[in-house]
Amino acid sequence: MISSKYTIREQNEANILNYIIKNKKISRASLSEISALNKASVSSITKKLIDEHLIHEVGTGEASTLGGRKPILLTFNKKSALLIAIDLGFNYVDAILTYVDGSEVGRVQRKNLLVTSENIQTIIDEIVVQFEANLPKTPHGIVGMTIGIQGQVFKNKLIFTPYYDLSNIDLYDILNSKYSFPIYIENEANLSALGEYTFSSDFESLISISLHRGIGAGIVKRGRLEVGNNGNAGEIGHMILFPEGRQCPCGNRGCFDQYCSTKKIYDETKEIKNLDIVNSEIMKDLYDSNDEEVRLLVQKYASLLAVGVNNVIMMYAPQLVIFNSALTKKIPDMITLINEHLTNRFSKNIKIINSPIEWNPVLYGGVAYAAQHFLNIEELKLIELE
Ligand SMILES: [Zn+2]
Repeated sequence: MISSKYTIREQNEANILNYIIKNKKISRASLSEISALNKASVSSITKKLIDEHLIHEVGTGEASTLGGRKPILLTFNKKSALLIAIDLGFNYVDAILTYVDGSEVGRVQRKNLLVTSENIQTIIDEIVVQFEANLPKTPHGIVGMTIGIQGQVFKNKLIFTPYYDLSNIDLYDILNSKYSFPIYIENEANLSALGEYTFSSDFESLISISLHRGIGAGIVKRGRLEVGNNGNAGEIGHMILFPEGRQCPCGNRGCFDQYCSTKKIYDETKEIKNLDIVNSEIMKDLYDSNDEEVRLLVQKYASLLAVGVNNVIMMYAPQLVIFNSALTKKIPDMITLINEHLTNRFSKNIKIINSPIEWNPVLYGGVAYAAQHFLNIEELKLIELE
């Protein structure tokens, strides 16, 4: 449940709604059975959910073996509301408008811009205006907007954003006073993890590792993000790999970020191959052409990444570890190599995979976050809804 002020009545409503979402089509009698609520309670709750347009009646199911009337089935109304998610990179912005089940209605992609405290409001306003221009009619309209931030966020407040300077504005207050729908602000790695939990995975606990210019992790268990006391949980880029190692801007030496971020990998590749630019595409080409130096480099970084993954597994014992990175997607061998390094008794059975989400898990996490709040369901799974 999302809110601590939840009444038992609301909990029952959320449970019934979640059963309907999970089962796709279900009768009132079956709901009564699995929820252990009596038929009268189920009837009054489902009536309320129908009145609120969150569910509707569809066709009829099979009559029981004892004969009798065929029951009317209930199903989740996937088009009851709309959600917006925005992934705010330091030099790009991705945005998506979806129905409440995550199915896409519209998207906006902007590249090669620099997000600053001066233009951020205009950027977000333009996206919302663009979505609102072609908004499909739904009973509830837009019911939430989530912004994914590269940096430290705690309870909707930006604490530290090293890639863009947004420290002199209160983004939450600005957006909250501008829009009538709820606003949520969360760290991008956290949102990625929630996106995987809700849209790509059957597992109850997983960790999503975002390997970009910096390294971060989102930790999710039963739909709830583990953010720690101050939002810092999952800042794995600052785990120490080498106690006397390279200086990190965080104040320590030898941080994971200083050895395994894509920036470090690309910088070293630039140096040994004498190139001006290296990105995931160029790495892939060199790797696929069997460039011996790059192959060795990839092996080296996979073994270092495996040290980090091992540490994370020992801390949280997740069922699954998902990599969210353009580099590991372009060179899937990196995931195989990391798996090969994880051989101890604790980690050998834990699957390490590339993100199965085709386009930007941060956005799907943003959608999941807003949907959880709108539907009041924390353990929300929206996999393969048809
Ligand atoms: Zn550090």
